[in-house]
Amino acid sequence: MAPDAADLPVKSIAVEMALPDLASQIAALEENTQHYVHEENVRPGDTLAAVLQRLGVDDDAAEAFIKSDKVARSVLQLKPGKRIQAQTSDDGELQWLSSMQIDGRDADGVRNVVINRVGDQFKASEVPAKLERRVEMHAGEIRSSLFAATDAAQIPDNVAKQIVEMFATDIDFASDLQRGDRFDVVYETFWQNGEFVRAGRILAGEFRNGGNTFKSVWFDEPSASQGGGYYSFDGKSLKKAFLKSPLEFSRISSGFSMRVHPISGQWKQHKGVDFAAAVGTPVRASADGVVEFSGNQGGYGNVVVLKHWSNLSTAYAHMSRFATGMHKGEKVSQGDVIGYVGTTGWSTGPHLHYEFRVNNAPRDPMSVDVPNAQPLAGAELQRFRNVAGDMSHRFALLSLADKGPKLAMK
Ligand SMILES: [Zn+2]
Repeated sequence: MAPDAADLPVKSIAVEMALPDLASQIAALEENTQHYVHEENVRPGDTLAAVLQRLGVDDDAAEAFIKSDKVARSVLQLKPGKRIQAQTSDDGELQWLSSMQIDGRDADGVRNVVINRVGDQFKASEVPAKLERRVEMHAGEIRSSLFAATDAAQIPDNVAKQIVEMFATDIDFASDLQRGDRFDVVYETFWQNGEFVRAGRILAGEFRNGGNTFKSVWFDEPSASQGGGYYSFDGKSLKKAFLKSPLEFSRISSGFSMRVHPISGQWKQHKGVDFAAAVGTPVRASADGVVEFSGNQGGYGNVVVLKHWSNLSTAYAHMSRFATGMHKGEKVSQGDVIGYVGTTGWSTGPHLHYEFRVNNAPRDPMSVDVPNAQPLAGAELQRFRNVAGDMSHRFALLSLADKGPKLAMK
């Protein structure tokens, strides 16, 4: 999924593509028969029997087949919102049924499970979904919380989570957000037969937080094992910066109103940053590194120390417990959960004590210019500049359009 800058829209966002085969199959079936096609969305608490009834299917053999066949059984995963189509004869006999199965995060994980009547029998098969890719831009403004803003802008949850991820080295979403902050995001969406299936990756985004504007762009690195990551427009990998807050921020941990805690994120006399949080809140590695220490250590209580690059290390103290596998020498990636907030050691209440150390001496993370471990170079840097430059230019156009009269953007 390369964020091809050419895909970024100026005004219009729809990319027309050929209709999937399934539609023509259905059309061909319809030509020969007098049967009825129904479409239903699965509702919370639905059972197979209830869905089949709404689809007009009155066919015990079909129901038994769905429950017993290895391929057809995936129809039984009745996730609310899942769309199921079926064609029946006028007395409710099932002719065919099609349901979409979505696995993983990628568009590759989407397929249609199709059940066809063959005489008195049924046959189930899996057909990879042929999805139409679109690129959309949505904008939002913070009034109460990030998730309230993304809900209001009709931005799917998996995109909201990516917003948090892509700006996590610039913004502590638990305490930095201000009323009136604005964001724009450009992301992929995938559609089948004109129906929304899922949102994909954010290709670029801009976040205006207080007086600062942060911009980030997705860049595929052919040389990187994990494929790619978010970069600031100057070519610095955000994965090589440190998270602004090691606490996990989610719809659940954030609640629906903005929480600003007096001790959150402030550099203190005792050479650390204290983050207030409920016991059990996940604590994440603020950058890639190796576990240097994990255990109980005096006033720190349960503490993990991670070693990064260039003599940089971080410590996470007072935790209630550790994540599994936190042994000396273990590799961790930025964002990995390493433990959970607690109040062990010399602590007056549940919080995370976070230390950022240079040559083992605590330093205020805000005052340290963190060296970038592996900046882009050579041909990759040149390719990145082309992508980022084009994104930046188109973003400026989109932002202008956003401020002007409403154009045909969604
Ligand atoms: Zn502290």
